[in-house]
Amino acid sequence: MRQRKWERTHARKPLQVLKLLSDKGELKAAAAAKLRQLIAELSRGWTGSRSMTRKDPKGALYAKLTKRPNPKVCPSHILNFQPGEAFMVRNIANMVPPFDKTKYSGMGAAIEYAVLHLKVENILVIGHSCCGGIKGLMSIPDDGATQSDFIEDWVKICKAAKAKVQTECSNLDFNEQCRQLEKEAVNISLGNLLSYPFVREAVLNKSLLLKGAHYDFVKGSFELWDLESKTSSKMSFS
Ligand SMILES: [Zn+2]
Repeated sequence: MRQRKWERTHARKPLQVLKLLSDKGELKAAAAAKLRQLIAELSRGWTGSRSMTRKDPKGALYAKLTKRPNPKVCPSHILNFQPGEAFMVRNIANMVPPFDKTKYSGMGAAIEYAVLHLKVENILVIGHSCCGGIKGLMSIPDDGATQSDFIEDWVKICKAAKAKVQTECSNLDFNEQCRQLEKEAVNISLGNLLSYPFVREAVLNKSLLLKGAHYDFVKGSFELWDLESKTSSKMSFS
C-alpha cells in the first residue's frame, strides 16, 4: 500500500520534467519520446530501489550502503533494468576519457560498439555519492605526484573538473567539494564523449542523446540533466 502511494506521488514528476524541457522547445517529438521512455525506466528503477528497502524491514542493507557505499552495487539493479535493456560500461569514478586510440582503446572500443553497432539512443553518464575514485582525484596533491600505477592517472581524466571545483567551491569542506566534483566530472565525461567522431555525428543527427546524472543513495535522489544545461538546471526526482 505504501509502495502504491509512493508511486502515485512520484510517478508524475518525470513527466513534469519532460514538459519543462518541451516547453523550452529543446526537444523534438522523437527525442522527447526517447527521453520519456528513459525517464520512465529510471523511475521504475527507483521503485525497485524502494522495494529493496521494503524487503529489508530493518533497513540494514540500506544503512550499510549509506555508511559505506559499495561500488560493487550494480547500476542495472539500482535502475531495475531488465537483461539486455542497457549496455553498461563501468570503470573507476565512471569517467569517459577523451578520444585516444592508444591510451584509452578499451573505452573507445566500448563506446564505438554501443554507438555504431548497438545504435544506442541514449548515453547516460552516472556519477554517484561517496565515490572513492572522485575522492582519490580530490586527494592528489597540487604538484600532481601520484603513488599508484593506474588509479590516479586514470582519474586525472577529470582534473579540469577538480580545478573548477577548487576555484568555485573553495569555501566548502573536502567532502562537499568531492560531492561537487562527482557531478562536475560527469560534465567532463559528456564533453569527452563529443571527442569521438561517431558520437558527435550521432548527436548532430539527433539519433543520440547525451545525459548526465548523479545518484545519491545517502539523500535518496537521482538528478538528471542534459549536455547543454550542465549543472545549472538539473532535474531532480526523488
Ligand atoms: Zn565511484
